[in-house]
Amino acid sequence: MSKVAIVTGAARGIGAAVARRLASDGFAVALLDLQDAGVKEGAAAITADGGKAIGLVVDVSDTEQVEAAVAKVAEELGPPVVLVNNAGITRDNLLFKMTDGDWDSVIGVHLRGSFLMSRAAQKYMTQQKWGRIVNLSSTSALGNRGQANYSAAKAGLQGFTKTLAIELGKFGVTVNAIAPGFIATEMTAATAERLGVSFEDFKAGAATQIPVGRVGEPEDIAHLVSFFASEGSGFVSGQVVYAAGGPQD
Ligand code: NAP
Repeated sequence: MSKVAIVTGAARGIGAAVARRLASDGFAVALLDLQDAGVKEGAAAITADGGKAIGLVVDVSDTEQVEAAVAKVAEELGPPVVLVNNAGITRDNLLFKMTDGDWDSVIGVHLRGSFLMSRAAQKYMTQQKWGRIVNLSSTSALGNRGQANYSAAKAGLQGFTKTLAIELGKFGVTVNAIAPGFIATEMTAATAERLGVSFEDFKAGAATQIPVGRVGEPEDIAHLVSFFASEGSGFVSGQVVYAAGGPQD
């Protein structure tokens, strides 16, 4: 079986940490993102550490780009058997101020992007009779003020996960979702900036509400992805794991 993984949104944040972790787990990793510099740097760092990686520029919401990128991964690294649908954006606004563009772009990247990537990658996984798809949901799936678009996308990803788990199970492919709480990345830093608070104060305030007393780090999520991508996780499928430092309602 080929040990090839694709991580979307891998130029920074959670995706970059997941790519590094899968590389250290022995996967050849394709880092996909909108920015050339980020994926090339990430791939070069993995290669410098003795791993195998390539960086590809792709907009996950574009069918042709997705099809071409997944085919290129298969050609350069071998058939992909792990896919981490991590690329994401926020366009927060209260409903009455949310534009058509805010809605369409968020649904487009998270939901359409995960659909296009999964459809393109499943071909290789079902041929190999082994595969792992991991989708990044969020605690916002349970509802979050100012995130009607994002929470709908993240809740949608949970239904998508369960349906793919049902369809692909007989081919040895598991599909699971991780729903992180507060993770310190540029995404949460941008939220702090929008709210007019320093990122340090924002993180400290969030930590007081989290049972384990700290915010999450990208590596916390990478650790869980590593489990879902492992050989031994084959009987766990269609699950949503909240990684939020405490229970969620
Ligand atoms: P991040 O730092 O903003 O990184 C997201 C990456 O995705 C960026 O490099 C971004 O590229 C890329 N991206 C955006 N649109 C794309 C597209 N159409 N095609 C390809 N790549 C695209 O975010 P993060 O915090 O690491 O979040 C990663 C995932 O975890 C997201 O799905 C997010 O919703 C989810 N999540 C995060 C948190 C959190 O607290 N951070 C909590 C729950 C869930 P550009 O920079 O060029 O836009």
